[in-house]
Amino acid sequence: MRDTAKHQGLRNQLITVLKEKGITDVAVLDAIQKIPRHLFLNSSFEDYAYQDKAFPIGAGQTISQPYTVAFQSQLLEVQKDHKVLEIGTGSGYQTAVLCGIGAKVYTIERQNELFKSTSLLLPKLGIRPKYISFGDGYKGLPNYAPFDSIIVTAGAPFIPKPLMAQLKVGGRLVIPLGEDHQIMTLLIRKNETQFEKHEFGEFRFVPLLENKN
Ligand code: SAH
Repeated sequence: MRDTAKHQGLRNQLITVLKEKGITDVAVLDAIQKIPRHLFLNSSFEDYAYQDKAFPIGAGQTISQPYTVAFQSQLLEVQKDHKVLEIGTGSGYQTAVLCGIGAKVYTIERQNELFKSTSLLLPKLGIRPKYISFGDGYKGLPNYAPFDSIIVTAGAPFIPKPLMAQLKVGGRLVIPLGEDHQIMTLLIRKNETQFEKHEFGEFRFVPLLENKN
């Protein structure tokens, strides 16, 4: 597995594209600039890894488009040492970006094949989330709650109640909502019972599926 000057050059071009599309968060851009996205993809996609596109990662799933990763990460307003819960580990690329920003990342994947391959890949790349869990993201991780922020990386038909309950007061939940296409939605927890809702543009994700374990 190699990361070369050529890859770094392509990443620099990707950063320019993301800035043109409106990404401004320096910590997010810095993380994307240093994470070798091509190593999260099957080698046959290596030449395309720094295009702003989603790609298949096996088990019928996709690695999110860099713009989507950047947009969701920016909405989270992650600070160093924040506890962040991610639903849908997938390739581990979004996990790596959050770790790159300095977050303590807890992530859940329901596909066993992806859970196993990503659990092996991340430490090889020197990326160490706090916890990678094989299970159902609809339930969150009650034993590790509360979280400063929660990111869902699959299209959800509704906002799972357990995720709202596991968010700190002042915390942010970023979730693409909808079945066929999704509206990027940000919930900010105002107090024990109240959440403020903000909606952003339309995105397309693979579905957040009910657990089959
Ligand atoms: N963050 C990933 C995106 C992967 S696509 C990346 O950067 O590559 C979404 C992922 O969510 C898939 O891997 C899918 O298996 C997973 N997923 C779908 N429903 C889930 C659920 N209920 N719990 C946990 N993971 C789920």
